[in-house]
Amino acid sequence: MSLLKHAKQYLSNQSTYSHLNAFVSLADPASILSRAEAADSIPDAHETTSPGLAGKLIAIKDNICTTELPTTASSAILKNFTSPYDATVVKQLRDAGAIVAGKTNMDEFGMGSHSTHSHFGPVKFARHSGEQLSAGGSSGGSAVAVASAQCWAALGTDTGGSVRLPAAYTGVVGFKPSYGLLSRWGVIAYANSLDTVGILGRDVESVESVFNKLNSYDPQDPTSIPPSTRSRLGSDRNIMSLRIGIPLDYNMSTLQPAVRRAWIRSLKALQDCGHTLHSVHLPATQHALSAYYVLAPAEASSNLAKYDGVRYGTRAEGIDGTPDSVLFAKTRGQGFGPEVQRRILHGAFTLSAQAMDNYFIQAQKVRRLVQRDFDSIFYTLNPLVKSAPVLHMDAVDVLVCPTTPTLPPTLSDVENQDPLNAYMNDVFTVPASLAGIPAISVPVDLDPSDRNPELVEKGIEERAGMQVIGQYGDDALVLDVAKNLFVAATRPSPYSRTSPFITAWGKNPSSPADEVVEEAERREKLARWETEKLESRKVQAGGKLKVVPGYGLLDKYPSAAVKKERKRLGAKAKELGITLEEYRAKLAAEEGKDEKPEQ
Ligand code: GLN
Repeated sequence: MSLLKHAKQYLSNQSTYSHLNAFVSLADPASILSRAEAADSIPDAHETTSPGLAGKLIAIKDNICTTELPTTASSAILKNFTSPYDATVVKQLRDAGAIVAGKTNMDEFGMGSHSTHSHFGPVKFARHSGEQLSAGGSSGGSAVAVASAQCWAALGTDTGGSVRLPAAYTGVVGFKPSYGLLSRWGVIAYANSLDTVGILGRDVESVESVFNKLNSYDPQDPTSIPPSTRSRLGSDRNIMSLRIGIPLDYNMSTLQPAVRRAWIRSLKALQDCGHTLHSVHLPATQHALSAYYVLAPAEASSNLAKYDGVRYGTRAEGIDGTPDSVLFAKTRGQGFGPEVQRRILHGAFTLSAQAMDNYFIQAQKVRRLVQRDFDSIFYTLNPLVKSAPVLHMDAVDVLVCPTTPTLPPTLSDVENQDPLNAYMNDVFTVPASLAGIPAISVPVDLDPSDRNPELVEKGIEERAGMQVIGQYGDDALVLDVAKNLFVAATRPSPYSRTSPFITAWGKNPSSPADEVVEEAERREKLARWETEKLESRKVQAGGKLKVVPGYGLLDKYPSAAVKKERKRLGAKAKELGITLEEYRAKLAAEEGKDEKPEQ
């Protein structure tokens, strides 16, 4: 299927779903089509296993600068702003041949959790006519654009969950890489120490291919991780038998039962793939949300000072700065929406001399504790922290937990909520943001008992977002586990997510189109690949995959049980007068006939 045909379908979906308000501005269709047609002649552009970006339509969140379209951050104060340069990430995408589909709607300056605080009206998420759900925020426009196949993938930004939360609500994949890996140059700052460019796509492979293109050092961004540090990142682990951590502190009483059941299903699915499950504690998590809502507004109040109608921003009509008000009061009063004004006031207060010690300084301390919590449970040591390595024999490779405490609320529920309710949505996403570590939201199936029969009848999939969180720099591992989870816990659903050819949500096409078949084959291939890898892992483990506790730790830090197992195998090998390696190969050859593994 040609890239041109894909592009045409995306454009047609853009008009079909324009009422969802996912875009603030759209690229010129004629130029999109001619670029897609040109990309069709590039060899390998159709490769599906490791998709290239040439000719692919990628939507860009409207707080990321582009020269072709305005960059408003969905704020009235920037409604007339067009950037004189492209953000580095946009340039990288264009250099790879991707086509900018348009700029997506969002919560003003990234502040919000439902994409309702926009100068251009709220983003809506609806899987069938009449439904109006929250798209999540603040990258809600990017998530809906991907979910309704108005583009192939999208860029968002994630400061406290803004990519993962909308991905969870709309049933797509949303990835926040480790802080500092993707360039922030040309990205409108909300809270610099937390801001991260993130990626949304319909499957993990597309997200990964965008990430691989953007993951490089940018000298223009002072927080970009330099090459010397990059070379030390990422642990080299076989993903087929990992230790999966279950953060028990995330199992709160307010967690919606359907989300909890989806979590349990996901964990079981991972266990069935050969991973082992381990409970962990992250005690500082309970304070993470409060710390975030002190730190983020504090940074925002300082970042947003430059929008005064002189240096940046649209100036209010008439005279600003009358004797009874301060200079810029009118411009900023008219230009910023209520949520942004609330954050500025809040941030200015927590940074004031009398409040600083009780709020800002305390919140910084909590941030450090949250980071330490993560460092204490991950097997990989934090490459950015110099402290003496502490080896935890019960350490885990990644964490798996829900992305949001509930399924998407209706927009009318959101309207009646107070701001604190919206802040509460970020409770599971904020800890990874404070620690700067990679986290991805993967859509997983609900338990059959939780599926709404009316939606099932219409062929509509309801999904919960499950988060995979890893140590700093372990982005590749996080993506691998996400792929595994996606294959294991999500039924292929060509109608609502995996195929770009949604003609109408909730309606099964009468005959499966070629691309649906292709998608099913691709998934089957992936599943086969997973099984083969699992088998080879079993071979390496001498047929003892399920019985070697903490196999992830085997190579570097063998636990007592692993040492015992090695000794046992070594003794047997000696008995037979062969080496351990030879003995393992022998066991592998007669795999299945090996003695029953002890538990
Ligand atoms: N909802 C959070 C906030 O309003 C996170 C937003 C984001 O990640 N940009 O601050």
